[in-house]
Amino acid sequence: MEQIIVKRKPRKCPKCKGDVYEILFGEPICSEKEMFKRTGKHYIFYGCIISDNDPNWACSKCGQEFRKE
Ligand SMILES: [Zn+2]
Repeated sequence: MEQIIVKRKPRKCPKCKGDVYEILFGEPICSEKEMFKRTGKHYIFYGCIISDNDPNWACSKCGQEFRKE
């Protein structure tokens, strides 16, 4: 999927109007739900896929990825 390059985190996905969440990389310490309970923030866990152009945020509905400019 093509990433969308943005200056800052979009509030809503421009494609489906879904909520856009911050992506966390690495081994998750708990579930996404548990993380929300703990931090009050929604995250999407991406596991250990580290590349040169990792996205910073992703749409919770359609999975559209966003990367900081
Ligand atoms: Zn979307």
